[in-house]
Amino acid sequence: MTELLPLIDKLTRAHSLSAEEYERLITGRNKETASLLREEADRVRRSIYGNTVFTRGLIEISSYCRNDCYYCGIRCGNPKAERYRLRPEEILDCCKEGYSLGFRTFVLQGGEDPWFDDVVLCGLLREIKAQFPDCAITLSLGERSRRSYELLFEAGADRYLLRHETANKQHYEQLHPERMSFERRMECLFALKEIGYQVGCGFMVGSPYQTAAHLAQDLKFIEQFRPQMCGIGPFIPHRDTPFGGKSAGSVELTCYLLSILRLIQPNLLLPATTALGTLAPNGRELGIQSGANVVMPNLSPVSVRKKYSLYDNKICTGEESAQCRDCLAQRMNAVGYRLVVDRGDPKTE
Ligand code: SF4
Repeated sequence: MTELLPLIDKLTRAHSLSAEEYERLITGRNKETASLLREEADRVRRSIYGNTVFTRGLIEISSYCRNDCYYCGIRCGNPKAERYRLRPEEILDCCKEGYSLGFRTFVLQGGEDPWFDDVVLCGLLREIKAQFPDCAITLSLGERSRRSYELLFEAGADRYLLRHETANKQHYEQLHPERMSFERRMECLFALKEIGYQVGCGFMVGSPYQTAAHLAQDLKFIEQFRPQMCGIGPFIPHRDTPFGGKSAGSVELTCYLLSILRLIQPNLLLPATTALGTLAPNGRELGIQSGANVVMPNLSPVSVRKKYSLYDNKICTGEESAQCRDCLAQRMNAVGYRLVVDRGDPKTE
């Protein structure tokens, strides 16, 4: 512990460590370092965001995907995956319901489904913006061309989530088939930032072959890239994928990394993910207490939720949207935080 204290102090003051120092902070962690980091992260978060937690209404628009990421339940190589695609009218209905429940950000997430081409998406974005002008729209639809990202931005998309998955090229290649490229993923992230999106990157904690050195590289990448958002959650295997037999990641390490991320970038928008809540009944509460400040309740129609199966045993697939929102509001209240009706843009530090 004592040897890590100067690192925690440096991180809190300078918001930066070397990759070797991040690695030491990870490998040398124990209950004391975790609790110290958690306290610092919570203090920093409260100084910017108080005890508020932002909500994003997640709409899973398609379970079709042309990619074959080894960890993902809806990869194209999984013949058992159930496929569906929401029609634009159904997506608008989800937004309408979400708006009445107090959501002011809609996240349209899906596999890389060519049916959602630029014409369809731009029409949909314009319609959402026309009907809900005070709402932000986040897209999470994978890799597209720079031109496509530009058109979607012009049509009203404000934010884009594209997890980098790992900042180490070799590790990226262990998680993805040959036709996917680490360089291309990075190009997409930098293009999104240049175009003017609020950008979210992120990674799984405990993904197969991941080492502490890889995680340190992820932290260094985030420190330098400075995204507006960062989604991290524990890896959870899906039985019908090549990684079906691998072990899940840990809630403890995910929360530890959330605290570090809050100290790296104090105003970062950090979700306490559904994957955290899947591995531990109080996982999302622990995430918030460790420094996260966003939750993403599901607004997808209940009839399709089980089909958007990225990993096994995903929670919140049976409840109505209102139930999901109320459940999360109660969970946050119980640990001293509160959900707010707000677009939830990053605040200045
Ligand atoms: S992680 Fe995304 S891109 Fe990869 S297979 Fe799953 S939905 Fe497709």
